[in-house]
Amino acid sequence: MEKILQVKNLHVSFRTYGGEVKAVRGVTFDLHKGETIAIVGESGCGKSVTAKSIMGLIPNPPGKITDGKILFKGKDLAKLPDRELRKIRGADISMIFQDPMTALNPTLTIGEQIMEGIIQHHKIARSDARKKALEILELVGIPSPKSRLKQYPHQFSGGMRQRIVIALALICEPEVMIADEPTTALDVTIQAQILDLFRDIQKKTGVSIILITHDLGVVAQVADRVAVMYGGKIIETGTKREIFYEPQHPYTKGLLNSVPRIDIEDAELVPIAGTPPDLFAPPAGCPFVARCEYAMEVCDRIYPTQTLKGNEHQVYCWLQDVRAKTSFATKW
Ligand code: SF4
Ligand code: MG
Repeated sequence: MEKILQVKNLHVSFRTYGGEVKAVRGVTFDLHKGETIAIVGESGCGKSVTAKSIMGLIPNPPGKITDGKILFKGKDLAKLPDRELRKIRGADISMIFQDPMTALNPTLTIGEQIMEGIIQHHKIARSDARKKALEILELVGIPSPKSRLKQYPHQFSGGMRQRIVIALALICEPEVMIADEPTTALDVTIQAQILDLFRDIQKKTGVSIILITHDLGVVAQVADRVAVMYGGKIIETGTKREIFYEPQHPYTKGLLNSVPRIDIEDAELVPIAGTPPDLFAPPAGCPFVARCEYAMEVCDRIYPTQTLKGNEHQVYCWLQDVRAKTSFATKW
């Protein structure tokens, strides 16, 4: 499958008064054309920072991409100047945030906001922009769009507002859409409808989606592939089937044991005992070592090697490596 975006060994740090926070520490993954990859993990694991890095939205200072590549259409987004990034953000990659209210201008009608975007991007006349706006609103499932063009954001429900935000993200016909917790602010029935909408749009437009979430119910509903993040690293990736039915990493298993159910309102991940690693001074070895019931001596010292369990299924855990339990590991 064609790789539309490749993140390679991405490192992102933030300077704070307390020192340097290493938020993302060597993240690597590919996004294929037309697929949805979910990046899943607890808050603070580095998933949003990864997404913002792709969008060029890491505020520098205090943030900085310290290493790695983000390859998109032959360009390395990690090294592109702001001016170039802004062009890509407007035209090729769009982002949807958690809270639809912050993405919409409360003082402009929906029609004005969508048409302004269309005119800017497609350089077409107002009457044509209006036609296109109606098409896009229909695509995202806004009923009787003609009569709603004149309304303001506050006249829409939360779910409808999120549909409008998605419409705004679609104006530029992006190849990649990044959605950071797009349904967290919505109640569970509306959430399911919005996730269906993502599927539907993907079928119709072929857009590739990176979905950032802490909610495995959301992952189950829309992802093709899953990357599980912990302590600034991806610790396991695989197809949705592999991650849900054959999880290998103790952290992934822990997440699944605390699996939230989509039929329960406000279902969230029940955290696993213990706290995530201190990203001011992350462990040299496995980031999960302090909470892992299987931890061995080597786990603390050396980052686990990659084990391939299938074409797409990769895991980083010493339990997968026979050498970890031998004297070889102690001498390493
Ligand atoms: Fe546990 Fe070691 Fe595997 Fe990390 S590498 S998950 S500490 S067994
Ligand atoms: Mg976040």
